[in-house]
Amino acid sequence: MRKIPLHVQIVIGLVLGVAWAILSAYLDFSEFTSDWIAPFGIIFIRLLKLIAVPLVLFSIIQGISGLTDIKKLGRIGAKTLLAYLATTVLAVTLGLLLVNTIKPGSQMDEQQRIDNRVEYEKWVARTDGVEILDGQRFHVDGNAAPEFGDNTEAEIDEKIKQVEEQRDSSPLQFLVDIVPFNIFVSFSDNKLMLQVIFFAIFFGVTMVSLPQEKVKPLNNMINGLAEVFLQMVHIIMKAAPIFVFCLLAGQINKMAGDNPAKVFEIFQTLAWYIVTVVLGLGVLIFVIYPSVVHALIKGINFKKFVRGMAPAQFLAFSSSSSAATLPVTMDCVNQNLGVSKEVTSFVLPIGATVNMDGTSLYQAIAVVFLAQIHMVDLSIGQQLMIVLTATLASIGSAAVPSAGLIMLIIVLQSVGLNPAWIAIIFPVDRLLDMCRTVANVTGDATVASIIASTENEISQRTNTEQ
Ligand code: ASP
Repeated sequence: MRKIPLHVQIVIGLVLGVAWAILSAYLDFSEFTSDWIAPFGIIFIRLLKLIAVPLVLFSIIQGISGLTDIKKLGRIGAKTLLAYLATTVLAVTLGLLLVNTIKPGSQMDEQQRIDNRVEYEKWVARTDGVEILDGQRFHVDGNAAPEFGDNTEAEIDEKIKQVEEQRDSSPLQFLVDIVPFNIFVSFSDNKLMLQVIFFAIFFGVTMVSLPQEKVKPLNNMINGLAEVFLQMVHIIMKAAPIFVFCLLAGQINKMAGDNPAKVFEIFQTLAWYIVTVVLGLGVLIFVIYPSVVHALIKGINFKKFVRGMAPAQFLAFSSSSSAATLPVTMDCVNQNLGVSKEVTSFVLPIGATVNMDGTSLYQAIAVVFLAQIHMVDLSIGQQLMIVLTATLASIGSAAVPSAGLIMLIIVLQSVGLNPAWIAIIFPVDRLLDMCRTVANVTGDATVASIIASTENEISQRTNTEQ
């Protein structure tokens, strides 16, 4: 019998997971799903996260210690950062183009938008120290909390405070944050991946600077360790279809809760917004990235790229986390696209942390959409500000679920909008998070392939299932 390719098996798991979650909501099996099925999804993510840090650490050290020319590292680094910046700006621009053309916010009920506008003006006045009440202005002390009669309000206020604290620190704080003070602390938190990368580069470069015979045994050990962690990814991926089933069943079950009709209602109100974001992400994932790779790289055509990336993409969709997907992304790019280990191990972990094209596209659309439903026109200057802050915010977003939504606070504030508006799109965020994570991962793979081709680091012998 012909073996079903892994990515097809994963799709089957994914579809069955969604079907199961919908069924269990209607048949009152929600508790069973969350008690007995969802935990396996969490186990899957834990296994992948468990591998991510050691895999990144050993593969970077392995890659760098194998370099004969250390200048190559600086060159690859500079090209990588430039390419990541370019793809992010492209994604934000695409997002702005779509949201200004489709105008999802204008599809909302006119009266609702007028009411929103009044609310917005009250907020502006309040943040200026003045409040409008029944057309009259009254002075108030300090910033009153935004009104959002919703149980997410406290949570959102807390996030806004955190982001503001972060913003008030020195402009060089990001540099300080990259340098670890205790490597075991960095190893213990996947959000500190940049510190792990820093340590691995430092370690690798130091190894190269020592005489060969002194580091030979260490080299062998690190090569062996890198292989072991890679093999762990292969073993886990064999069970991925079942794990993905559990992950999706649990996730959708949680989203639908006991009242799937209510969820449907929320989705309907935000339908145009969802369509705009999904369309933008779709164009990035299925048109722009594969076409760019097809046009620029000799060894990778459109089909090979789409097929080769599929397992990582499905996993990104199911987990909403580029960090958890990283081991599989590295494997797909290396084994299926033929990009050398040297490039994958260096470019992809950095990408998972700083390059989030899907997130930045989503942030641009979300901000303009929120402005539209409050009848606020954003000037060209403000839209350029969105390009800048969405790019920076996506760099600052952690590669974990919902990080992009939190960083949206910064983008909203940069153009003078109410950060508490994130509550409006909060209910549909998980679904969009799943989609934007796919774009984030695919963007990283695109850049890795391009960098590899400029360095002649692509092999024609790959595993792509035909
Ligand atoms: N979940 C996304 C990621 O891990 C980040 C975000 O947009 O929330 O790539």
